[in-house]
Amino acid sequence: MNFPLPPNATIGIVGGGQLGRMSAMAAARLGYRCHIFTPEPDAPASQVASLTTLADYDDNAALIRFAESVDVITFEFENVSAEGLDLLAERRPVRPGPDILRISQDRIAEKTFLNAAGVRTAPWAPVESIAQLQAAIATIGLPAVLKTTRLGYDGKGQALIRTAGEAEMAFALLNPKPLILEGFVDFACECSVIVARGADGASTAFDTVENRHRDHILDLTLAPAPFDPDLRHEAQAMALRVAAVEFFIDRDGRILANEIAPRPHNSGHWTIDACPASQFELHIRAVAGLALPQAVRHSDAVMKNLVGPADIALWPQIVATQGLIPHHYGKTAAREGRKLGHVNTLFPHGALPGAFGIAAALGVLAADEP
Ligand code: AMP
Repeated sequence: MNFPLPPNATIGIVGGGQLGRMSAMAAARLGYRCHIFTPEPDAPASQVASLTTLADYDDNAALIRFAESVDVITFEFENVSAEGLDLLAERRPVRPGPDILRISQDRIAEKTFLNAAGVRTAPWAPVESIAQLQAAIATIGLPAVLKTTRLGYDGKGQALIRTAGEAEMAFALLNPKPLILEGFVDFACECSVIVARGADGASTAFDTVENRHRDHILDLTLAPAPFDPDLRHEAQAMALRVAAVEFFIDRDGRILANEIAPRPHNSGHWTIDACPASQFELHIRAVAGLALPQAVRHSDAVMKNLVGPADIALWPQIVATQGLIPHHYGKTAAREGRKLGHVNTLFPHGALPGAFGIAAALGVLAADEP
C-alpha cells in the first residue's frame, strides 16, 4: 500500500482502550477502517471499529495474522514485547517507529534519550542493588522517588523515599528490577505538550496545558496552562525536540521533563472539541501519511476525567447539562480508579477563567473538586 493511505485502507491499532477508541473515531471521519488487536472482549475501541483480533499481546501467530490484514500499524498500548514489535515491523510500517516505542517502555532509556536531546530532567540514576541505591541517594539526595523502569503508570510502581531508613523497604517492594531513582521535584505544577510529527518530519505542537491529578490519576487539564506564555512556549519548543512530553515546572520556574508518550495522551483529550483537528486526527493523519494541519485551538478548554463509579454515576446529569461535552468510553465495569470517560467544556479563546469560573462551568462535576 502506498502512502498517503487512500480512504477505505485499514489501520491496525494495537490496544483496545479509550485511546484506540478515539483514534478509531478520528480515522472513521477520514474514511479509514480500523482493526483492533486486544486481549479484552468488547473493548472500548472494538465497539467503534470494523474488525478486532481478540488475542494476547504475546500470541505471535495472532500478531502475524493481524499485521498481514492491515495496511499500517499503530499503538495505543506501548508494552508489546520487543519480539512482538519485530514481528509486526517486519510485515507492515509501524508508526511511530519501534525505536521510540522501545525507549518509552523503559524509564532509563527514556531519561537517557531526553538528556541526550538536551532536555532537562530531575537528576536520576539506575538502581539494581541496595548498594547502588545508597550511592544514588548520596549523590541525588532526599527526598527522592524510586520507580520501576517498566510498566509503571498513574503512580503505580513507585515509592517516595523521605529518609535513609525507608530505602531498603522501598527497594524490596518494587519489582521487577532494575529500578530508577529520581530526585523529588517540588513542583509548582505539572504540564504537558502534545506533538504530532508527520512522515515527512514536519512537526506541530498543541499549546502547553496544565494537568492536575487526584489520587495519582489525571483529573483536570487546563488548556492553555494558566501561566507565563514565555514558559508555555519554552515547554512547546522542548516538546518539539522529542515529541509529546509530560513536564514538571519547579518552584524556580524551571521546566523538567518527566515522561514521553509516543501516542495520543489523556492530557490531549480537550483537543477533540477545542481544535479543528484533534490530537487523534493528527495521530491518524501522521500514521496514514496525510499532511498535518497546524495544532491550533479555536477555544480554551477544561477537560475533566470521569474516573470510577462515583464520577460515572453523574452521567445522567452530565448529559443533561448545557455546555458540558460528554465522552463515554463504553466500558461496562466501573471499577475504582478506572478512566470511564471525560467531559470537555469550552471558553472563548484567551478567556480561560480562574478557579471559580471553572467550577461554575463544570457544574455537577465541580462538587468533588478539592
Ligand atoms: P509518572 O508515572 O512518572 O508519570 O509519575 C506519576 C506522578 O507521580 C507524576 O504525575 C507526579 O505527580 C509524581 N512524580 C513522579 N516523579 C516525580 C518526581 N521525580 N518528583 C515529584 N513527583 C513525581
